[in-house]
Amino acid sequence: MTQFATCDGELVVGGKRLSVLAARVGRTPFYAYDRGLLRARVAELRGALPPAVKLHYAMKANPMPALVGFMAGLVDGIDVASGGELKIALDAGADPEEISFAGPGKRDVELQQAVAAGVLVNVESTRELPVLAAASQALGLPARVALRVNPDYELKGSGMKMGGGPKQFGIDVEQIPQALAQIGALGLSFEGFHLFAGSQNLRAESICEAQVKGFELALRLSQDAPAPLRVLNLGGGFGIPYFPGEQRLDLAPIGRNLAALVERATAELPQARLVIELGRFLVGEAGVYVTRVVDRKVSRGQVFLVCDGGLNHHLSASGNFGQVLRKNYPATIGNRVDAAPELASAVGPLCTPLDLLADRMELPQADIGDLVVIFQSGAYGASASPQPFLGHPAVVEVLV
Ligand SMILES: *Cc1c(COP(=O)(O)O)cnc(C)c1O
Repeated sequence: MTQFATCDGELVVGGKRLSVLAARVGRTPFYAYDRGLLRARVAELRGALPPAVKLHYAMKANPMPALVGFMAGLVDGIDVASGGELKIALDAGADPEEISFAGPGKRDVELQQAVAAGVLVNVESTRELPVLAAASQALGLPARVALRVNPDYELKGSGMKMGGGPKQFGIDVEQIPQALAQIGALGLSFEGFHLFAGSQNLRAESICEAQVKGFELALRLSQDAPAPLRVLNLGGGFGIPYFPGEQRLDLAPIGRNLAALVERATAELPQARLVIELGRFLVGEAGVYVTRVVDRKVSRGQVFLVCDGGLNHHLSASGNFGQVLRKNYPATIGNRVDAAPELASAVGPLCTPLDLLADRMELPQADIGDLVVIFQSGAYGASASPQPFLGHPAVVEVLV
């Protein structure tokens, strides 16, 4: 992967040769997230998007507190999806004014926490509205709300669809006028709309189409709103390439599309700021998972590198987090990237054939003690994995 340099036959992560970084961490397996790459990714986006568009980090992609703190200093806001994530964002020093809280099944206590913190709640169900009104009254504080809209269309080309059709997310567009009336009647502070159609999309045209449709939908719905729109969150879904043949997302057309929408907003929704919220795209490529080879076995001619971590730390790379067909994440042997290649499988220590990190892949020839590196591991890694499964030690995470 070209985002990481090499030196003396080793991958360089966070300015250190991988064997040195592993010694610094003190144990394997670990995740390492590279600050320089995180900074570069945000700068690349800022360069491609119009300055009026606010950039939020959706922290469910990677909630490591140190990383959230670092991101909070780079982006314009943080999107949280639980009371637990809200705590991390606030601890990290994110401005509550620029935190939004989405997610189905928010418990009453989480809604009260949101009002007390002064963050924007992206309401996913009208059930939340009276709870927010009661919290507002009890605390003597405004309840800031936006409505998450479940539109009547789907985002094409998205790896995971989260809008259109029957969904547990958001409020069906048909029911929005009623919800707006309820917001007015309850005296909640209405700020705008939130649309999020799906995740891991590599097609710029379909992202642009979703943004335009979302904008037009919000424009239409705003006619029934109890107050002018102050925020329009158009979602995100920007993907990163994982597998051979996948093309990296072209930001230029998305930038042009958003510039046109900013212009329209100036005339048609003059008080609204446009927001996009990205998780994976911001952090996914900046992270690696590093696990040490514990055993090298040959079974009927096939080489197995048995590692000290696998599916328990990195469910996504094992192919068990939403993939239909299992494919290998990009990988290498990070302390000997220039060794002669051989066909090998890297597996974890769990007693299940699902614990597969690399299936018959060309890897530099490796032996016991070497370091298997899985790239594209900065998003949906440690926090999206079943760590207690089989009782192995928890993975370490470092920001470098
Ligand atoms: C998961 C999620 C995100 C982040 O998705 P990515 O694909 O990681 O960018 C953003 N917004 C909402 C509402 C989400 O549920």
